Amino acid sequence: MKRARIHSMMFTCCAMAAGACGSSAGAPVQTPIPPSPGAPPDGTAAAPAVVAAERSGGIPDGNMERAKIPARFQWNLQPLFASDAAFEEGLALAARNRERLEGYRGKLNRPKALRECLSLYFDTRLLTNKATLYSANRLDTDQTNTALQGMADRALDAMNGLIAKAGFIRKEILALDDRALGRAYGAEAQLAGFKPYIDEIRRRRARTLGDEAERVLSLVGDNLWAEIDLNELPSDHEKTFSNILADIPLPKVKDAAGVEVQLTMSNYGKLRSDPDRRVRRDAVEALFATLKQYQHAFASTLSGQVRLDVTLARSRGYDTARHAYMDKDDIDEGVFDNLISTVNANLAPLHRYVRLRKRLMAVPELHIYDMYTPMVEAVPMRFTYEDAVRILPEALEPLGPDYAEVLGTGLDVDNGWMDLYPHKNKKSGAFSCSVFGAHPFVKMNYYEEYDDLSTLAHEFGHAMHSSLAMASQPYVTSGYSAFLAEIASTTNEKLLSDYLLEHAKTDDERLYLLNEMVDSIRTTIYRQTLFAEFEHAAHRAAERGEPLTAELLSRKYGELIRTYYGPDLTMGENDDIEWAYIPHFYYKYYVYAYATGLSSGIAIAGKVKREGAKARDAYLGMLEGGMSKPPLDLLRDAGVDLTRPDAIEAAAKLMDDLLGQMEELIARRPSEKVAPLAASADRP
Ligand SMILES: [Zn+2]
Repeated sequence: MKRARIHSMMFTCCAMAAGACGSSAGAPVQTPIPPSPGAPPDGTAAAPAVVAAERSGGIPDGNMERAKIPARFQWNLQPLFASDAAFEEGLALAARNRERLEGYRGKLNRPKALRECLSLYFDTRLLTNKATLYSANRLDTDQTNTALQGMADRALDAMNGLIAKAGFIRKEILALDDRALGRAYGAEAQLAGFKPYIDEIRRRRARTLGDEAERVLSLVGDNLWAEIDLNELPSDHEKTFSNILADIPLPKVKDAAGVEVQLTMSNYGKLRSDPDRRVRRDAVEALFATLKQYQHAFASTLSGQVRLDVTLARSRGYDTARHAYMDKDDIDEGVFDNLISTVNANLAPLHRYVRLRKRLMAVPELHIYDMYTPMVEAVPMRFTYEDAVRILPEALEPLGPDYAEVLGTGLDVDNGWMDLYPHKNKKSGAFSCSVFGAHPFVKMNYYEEYDDLSTLAHEFGHAMHSSLAMASQPYVTSGYSAFLAEIASTTNEKLLSDYLLEHAKTDDERLYLLNEMVDSIRTTIYRQTLFAEFEHAAHRAAERGEPLTAELLSRKYGELIRTYYGPDLTMGENDDIEWAYIPHFYYKYYVYAYATGLSSGIAIAGKVKREGAKARDAYLGMLEGGMSKPPLDLLRDAGVDLTRPDAIEAAAKLMDDLLGQMEELIARRPSEKVAPLAASADRP
């Protein structure tokens, strides 16, 4: 999924299973917005969901008018604003508040002014958050409505205006000395409520420069102090990259029926996973050959991004870009090193995966273009929403009665959390979003397939995280760090997967479910770690002063592909150019958090099931903790220490176990079913 350019209200990510997902911890502005993890974490569009129009009658039907869908299956936005008129009044008040903030400029060394200013700032931020969420959700279900587009734009402008206006608050808080701040806390008791915010600003105080230097840095696009997710702030290099990618002429390829289709970045993901081997080979080879022709342009845009990261980091006295960007999120660099070294020490399960895939597909050589088509037959499983409402609480039962109660409230469509079914002019995909003081919202396009059930479990992970954090924390700390954002969602996916495996009726179902989990680990842990390693190698080369040429980048990428996938993958002539179209390398040390997120989710799901109430309460404590502590401390309280190899080793071991189970199931299949899946496809 393309990242939503919506400040901190809503992040659009993709469920690791398949569906698009997202989540938001709408509350504080510093709550970041993860870009699309999960799905094809390389910028290609996910294969589109079944076109509901093909189904006859009843729900779900993607061509239905929204008005025909019973109101109970639509979310209730009233907790945000009672009406569009109330939304307009809210925006007008936010504009007046922004002007009032101006009155505090230059006065924040006075305790009373500091307290009043922060109070007004947070009130305005909450109001503006509500406005962006309300208008974005209205627009999401009525995409072609230009009036709603206008509302959404004005709400975003209000947020941008507030962020710009509030720059002086940070500056003046940084300028206070410790004694003055201590006196301010003493004089104004209510300032204590803002302490987490003040502390977070002052944590990197030593990294701030003098007025003139700060002014220059802001002119060149400094982002190390951005209060919104960096992915919402594309650099000019990233914009150039996106535009080149959009502009380069891609060839036509023939689909399975022999009909010529124009290859585009949006149908690439689907063609790449085509069951017909000729189609997927042609698509991948056509894209890679074209990228190769433009390799120097892509090397220049990536080099520009990497060198900007290094420049901004060094301007503030960091030795490396990684230190600067991980410090921004308050994450120890050891987490990154540990991820890379542990994954590299545990590549055997990935090699086993490649070997099994090659065997099941019965191809003499397994190529990169063979990696995205299912290696086992899809088993049609249907889950109506009534099934989901029965299954999810059972699957998530290990999370205890308190969790179950809130989950039940959210799943009950009469409570207005959900916008459940697809319909005409509703945007595809799924997400969860929230703003302090209102229940979370979950947007689905529920087509009753396995992926939809899995996506629902994923989104409810986000929604529950938000709900529990908001119930336990004041507004200031009620969001959660992007680093922790994909843990509750993946914990739920893992628990659901375990439950469905326990209740599977046939070996084919089991095989399909095992394969889904294995592919999640492959694409979310292994592939994202490979990306992280590549991103870091590029930054290190720039930091050593080496020019980032296409040759250097392709050589490094090719080495990583060979090392990660092992001897059973055959590299094609242009496969080492894949880096050129992957947007994640412009995200400034972000991708590793997908891998740590799923590893943590797997670890927590296992712990809660093995250890019971104590582990469960520790996990719920993390969810309820919001942003009250540094993210690594919250996670450590939940029993996962990402500076140690355990969680990542356990995820690798899980992959190995699942592959073993798959091999066993395949061995006991009736012989006619062992027929190679790719038998009908042509061979190279
Ligand atoms: Zn998610």
